[in-house]
Amino acid sequence: MAHPEILPDLFFVQRGYLNGNHFVYRSDRPVLIDTAYLAHFDRTRQSIADLGADLARTALIVNTHTHCDHIGGNRRIQELSGCDIALHRIGRHFIEARDDWSTWWRYYDQEAEFFQCTHSLEDGEPLAIGPHEFRVIHTPGHAADGIVLYHPREKLLISADALWERDMPVITLRVEGSRALFDCLDSLEKIRCLDVRLVCPGHGRPFEDMPEAVSRWKKRIRGYLERRESLGDDQLKRIIVYTLLMRPGREQATFFDHLMNTVWFPETCAFFFNGEHRRKFDEVMAGLIHRRIVTCTDGKLFTPVAA
Ligand SMILES: [Zn+2]
Repeated sequence: MAHPEILPDLFFVQRGYLNGNHFVYRSDRPVLIDTAYLAHFDRTRQSIADLGADLARTALIVNTHTHCDHIGGNRRIQELSGCDIALHRIGRHFIEARDDWSTWWRYYDQEAEFFQCTHSLEDGEPLAIGPHEFRVIHTPGHAADGIVLYHPREKLLISADALWERDMPVITLRVEGSRALFDCLDSLEKIRCLDVRLVCPGHGRPFEDMPEAVSRWKKRIRGYLERRESLGDDQLKRIIVYTLLMRPGREQATFFDHLMNTVWFPETCAFFFNGEHRRKFDEVMAGLIHRRIVTCTDGKLFTPVAA
């Protein structure tokens, strides 16, 4: 796939659901924005090389937040290049405190490696990616340390997981806190006030109609607030798909027991569904299989969702 050049020498690399989209500023000292998921690092490395950027010469990685699908290549690239890594100051705290719960890694049983964060970013601060002057905007809700990058002159928004075109990322109240949906609404309001011509999201393709995406997302959040179980259902479905993307071919016969041994699954069922683990598992799996989001071959589970 050709990677669109969204500003001179700044390329958008679109990935799937398991890997966050990422960006490469091509120069003698490349700058990367996000580094996808650890297990797919070879593909990340290849897409960066295809753009003519030398990974060993990386000067800086900027991460939009510390979720595993956005920081996966950090440690290896830092080992290779000695690059700086910049995060919002809350994300820097998670990394320095070795808090792999707030980053979701341990909570959702995800693969990720710690790295050294060398710079913290603040809301409203300017951030230069080569000659391109962005502004950092803190957008908590999905992730406490979430930021978007806004280029006012080019009216370009790198929206990460704070805004996608049609879908909505997982909201984890048990990690982000009971005000997370309200934080999302506040973050969306901050975004809505920007003058934007093109949005490059953390997952999915670039899009132009930002107001439509914002209002779709706000409506979805209001739905969650009116019917809280719908948020629990969405969380169960999305994390089950994510689990199968991370480790395809799980045995169907032992999948329930596997989920019961994670932190997130029993807790989500307790929080939203009165601890009805088995009933929710059967219901959610039946729905995913019926919609062919999950398939079962020879007793093994897969998902055809793009990784
Ligand atoms: Zn995320």
